[in-house]
Amino acid sequence: MPSNRLLIIDDEPNVAATIGKVARRCGYDTIITTESEDFLGRAHSWRPTVIVLDLSIPGMGGCELLVQLGKEACDAQILIISGHSRSEMEAAQRLGRMHGLTMAGTLQKPLRVDALRIVFETINNTAGIITRVDIQDALENNQFYVAYQPQINLQSMQMVGVEALARWIHPARGPVPPTTFIPLLEESGLIDEFTHKVVDITIPQLRLWRESGLELKLAINVSAKNFGSGNFDTYIDSRCAKYGIASDYITLELTESAAMERVGDSASLKRLAASGVSLSIDDFGTGYSSLVQLHRLPFSEIKIDRSFVLECMSDKECSVFVRAIIDLAHNLNMTSVAEGIESIEVMNHLANLGCDLAQGYAISRPLIAKELYQWALTWGATNQHMAAY
Ligand code: C2E
Ligand code: MG
Ligand code: MG
Repeated sequence: MPSNRLLIIDDEPNVAATIGKVARRCGYDTIITTESEDFLGRAHSWRPTVIVLDLSIPGMGGCELLVQLGKEACDAQILIISGHSRSEMEAAQRLGRMHGLTMAGTLQKPLRVDALRIVFETINNTAGIITRVDIQDALENNQFYVAYQPQINLQSMQMVGVEALARWIHPARGPVPPTTFIPLLEESGLIDEFTHKVVDITIPQLRLWRESGLELKLAINVSAKNFGSGNFDTYIDSRCAKYGIASDYITLELTESAAMERVGDSASLKRLAASGVSLSIDDFGTGYSSLVQLHRLPFSEIKIDRSFVLECMSDKECSVFVRAIIDLAHNLNMTSVAEGIESIEVMNHLANLGCDLAQGYAISRPLIAKELYQWALTWGATNQHMAAY
């Protein structure tokens, strides 16, 4: 079977033909269909590696198709292409993720051929061709590094911390996004080794910053699988002790769905929280959590998923959702964090809603350690100006 198989479902034959043409130029073997039953049959028998899904399909709609693909445990990367609004497409993405699907992104009609080509090339470069050996090499040869995204307090506009975001530049294929390599690390049993590396890079860095006068907190993303072996808490404790970092300068971010996965094995999380480490629920709103269960875990922070933040001024539902999460956090005595803030308007809006912390491209993109230090010095000098916006 050819390795790059693309299945397209679109009720507009011209659009489907254009997508197919671009995909074939990017090396995909392509099948086009306009009909739901045929689509599901081919998704089952042909096992595409990528699916392009239009949301408006007569008969069974795009969302229903996503649910069916989830039931079939479809492992293709799914790209949503549609004339629907951005928020409807984001909602469909969330639905797909909730059903265990790998969502590769959204593109709005009318399509731009260059945008389509870039998406296909990116998926093609990263999907399915990175092996366990690549990942092992990357660990052994220190190909992973960390970028840091500043977090600010939305009321004082002071920089308060950084989120550590892992980066990998594959020597031949170039940058591979964490959303591709983290699942591979998890599947290949190397996620503990990887997370220990991230901890080993970032805690000494935090110490250096604090010695240079930057009073920051450090947020590290962790995988649910890190809590499988039962000694992650002692690893964090030992690194903090080695570098003289108080545990309350550390936050661990767990996605909402990861938090729910480990709900039965929360002893390690509880030990960490008891030692002073803050626990944050990342991408809140994208998983299916029972709020009661979440509250039983010792989380002290909720990070509102960026898909809601992005649309919180333009989409009524997102706006209601963002307000509700901020209130929920405060009523539970938790800190609310908005991530993915891309404009000053959204930043000010969230500040008015009482959101506590913020990060996003409008404040700064993730930076390497040296750039971060320079950024922090400049931000100190300019944030008075930002507050007056
Ligand atoms: P996350 O923890 O929710 O991190 C936020 C993501 O949003 C980052 O993507 C960041 O670069 C991106 N981002 C920040 N500001 C903006 C903005 O204004 N607009 C937009 N569109 N995006 C923004 P990144 O670095 O690609 O990481 C993706 C995810 O990969 C992270 O989501 C996290 O779940 C995971 N990840 C990254 N590093 C690690 C790690 O060291 N360990 C684990 N387990 N997961 C990691
Ligand atoms: Mg995070
Ligand atoms: Mg997040």
